[in-house]
Amino acid sequence: MPGSITVWEKDPAVGGLTTAPIPDVGKLPLAFNFPAAPPYSSNPATAEFRYWNAAATLRRAADFWAASMQPPVEWNGSAILDVYLDRGVALQSKYDGQALNFYHGSPNGNLAVVVYSGASPDLLCHELGHAVLDAIRPDLFNRGLLETDAFHESFGDMSAILCALQIPTFCSAVIGETGQNFWSSSSLSRIAPQFGAALRMENPNLADADCLRNAWNDHPYSNPAGLTAAGPPGTVAANPHSFSRVFTGAFFEVLAGMLALKTGNNPPTPQDLQQVSCDMRDILVEALGQAPLVPGFYASIAGAMVTASLGPGPGRGPAVQQVFQNVFVRRKILPPPAIV
Ligand SMILES: [Zn+2]
Repeated sequence: MPGSITVWEKDPAVGGLTTAPIPDVGKLPLAFNFPAAPPYSSNPATAEFRYWNAAATLRRAADFWAASMQPPVEWNGSAILDVYLDRGVALQSKYDGQALNFYHGSPNGNLAVVVYSGASPDLLCHELGHAVLDAIRPDLFNRGLLETDAFHESFGDMSAILCALQIPTFCSAVIGETGQNFWSSSSLSRIAPQFGAALRMENPNLADADCLRNAWNDHPYSNPAGLTAAGPPGTVAANPHSFSRVFTGAFFEVLAGMLALKTGNNPPTPQDLQQVSCDMRDILVEALGQAPLVPGFYASIAGAMVTASLGPGPGRGPAVQQVFQNVFVRRKILPPPAIV
């Protein structure tokens, strides 16, 4: 076993690799239970690589959430979460309340294309996000309410973005890609491009045009009662995955605003990206402790984030709060403030 291993930064389709320490999957809090560890391989086409890539990615992601100012002390109902990297044939990945489950599959009619959902850090960190949110707010899981189910999906994508920003080499790559224009479509904003491409071959309505879901979007909130259950890419439909992009877009725009406030006219550094990702994490987790469970959950959690963003705490204050307020109001997630 080498002293460190090579893993994907964010998604196999992006292609960036980075080095990671040998992960301790059984470390508390937020420990994992994998089937027995194989010897390491640096060949990304092998099951051995996928194991170590998943183990290192999930360890990094769990450590990130465990370091929040109000961290979950354990998973929902257990100190250890089971992880199954290949449960069989399906184009799917799933947190089911008990375990993280990943699969391998091909789009209908394209058997030459084989996608392992557990190979993508985006999908690993997305499913882990479901489990983290279930640990913090068990009352939100599988409610059958569109806005809570959609927020669960959004939290998974927010987890993918925030956890990717814990990798200095990836932060440098994003800065090189976006320059001063963090608010743009990038390898950071595009969630799970490899999996999205496979889904698009099967049904173009199941993914955005350039990835599974792009956090760089301008989808405003509209009452889901007026939306159809499915629709073409570029539109928002009343199903949890599609509707999640409304909240994720607002989150990503706020994150860009927080970064602009922090750096002013200076180019961002990897440390700046990492810092605002931690500030955003802490605001999210604090807001989750305050937001009531109501059918209109987007306004509930957005209002709690506006409150939490005032501080006290690092990376907060009136200017940060104004960013949250402006974005959530412009996107119609929150009503305009009353003029008094
Ligand atoms: Zn999900």
